[in-house]
Amino acid sequence: MKLHTKILIGLAAGAAAGLLANALALDWLLKTLTFLDVYGRLFIRLITMIIIPLVAASLICGVASLGDIRKLGRIGGKTLGFFLITTVVAASIGIPVAALLKPGIGLGERPNVQTGNIGEVKNPTVADSILSIVPSNPVGAAASGDLLGVIVFTIVFGAALGVLPEDRRGPVLRFFAGVNDASMVVIGWAMKLAPTAVFCLIAAAVAKFGVGFLRGLAMFCVAVLIGLAIHLIGTYGIVLRFLCGANPFTFYRRVAEVPLMAFSTSSSSATLPVSLETAEKDLGISQAVAGFVLPLGATMNKTGSALYKTVAAMFIMQVLGVPAPLSRKLMLIFAATVSAMTTAGVPGSGMVSIVLVLQIAGLGYLAPAGVALVAGVDRILDMCRTAVNVTGNMVCVAYVARSEGEKLETRPVERVRSGVAS
Ligand code: ASP
Repeated sequence: MKLHTKILIGLAAGAAAGLLANALALDWLLKTLTFLDVYGRLFIRLITMIIIPLVAASLICGVASLGDIRKLGRIGGKTLGFFLITTVVAASIGIPVAALLKPGIGLGERPNVQTGNIGEVKNPTVADSILSIVPSNPVGAAASGDLLGVIVFTIVFGAALGVLPEDRRGPVLRFFAGVNDASMVVIGWAMKLAPTAVFCLIAAAVAKFGVGFLRGLAMFCVAVLIGLAIHLIGTYGIVLRFLCGANPFTFYRRVAEVPLMAFSTSSSSATLPVSLETAEKDLGISQAVAGFVLPLGATMNKTGSALYKTVAAMFIMQVLGVPAPLSRKLMLIFAATVSAMTTAGVPGSGMVSIVLVLQIAGLGYLAPAGVALVAGVDRILDMCRTAVNVTGNMVCVAYVARSEGEKLETRPVERVRSGVAS
């Protein structure tokens, strides 16, 4: 059975068990489910544990390799600029969508009260926010879970590595590439626990907070889907129409195999071979452009994930009663952008890095508890956001190819198949 099928079964069974305990006030079942919640929270701790090595290693390798990308000149600049701008736009879309739909408000009693006094979460002042950007001690930042500090340090360190000669830089990069790969393996192991962990997390939350919590989660999923649709039709629609001269719907039909593959694997990396083939065969893009843009996109361009992270963070803050002033929203957009551009194209990596987004937004020790709230529905949303991630790569490769003077094949599929010339 596929992992996502197992997770869906875990989700449905957990919701049913929780509802049963809550609706029939079955004390023994409630106690059992509350006990099982420990297992769910262990799962969250397992993925939280890997964040610092993962973030540090992937950022150092990514930033250091930018030195080479710069040498690739125009295409490199266009590609990175496209990734950055569309990721910021996607992360920004998530904020008003969550603020308007308010999926986390009105869930009644607040889950995870055992994590501490919610009132202790301070609103950062502007001066605090500026000062906290640069850590005075990177090891201290890592030890205290100050992810923003870790990120800033690793960006500076990675940039410094990028200017060293190959014989000095190589061994350090190879070390961090190994750390990155091992972190991925840990995430893979953690995901194997996901079906049972999802059962425990959902069952305990629903048992405690009833059907209202399920409704809130469903609303959260709807908010993410609406945001993703706005991004696909709005942001990418505009790029396709005005920068690629293509009809967005015809384009999406032409590349449909790519998001379908991503939907079923929840992995941008696993979709890469299909993306490459589709770009070259179905869009007529040169190997030079596709071979550069798409592998980079599979690791750096995750706009669907960025949007998901801001909606999830807003939802969690609504549930936990944490206020969201403008300064925190801006931090969310920044954090979602950085984490989306640095997390791997594998299933579940977006969920792992919500911890990072929440911590950068100043939620401190509440972050792991926040992730527990959304972990149950993560896989379904992972399938959807990954489909958007890879569609974004196809739009980017089309934009870069077109701007380099290549002619795109954008006729409707049926017309080409039946041999009708446009
Ligand atoms: N699974 C996503 C991808 O591979 C990343 C994520 O979890 O957000 O693109």
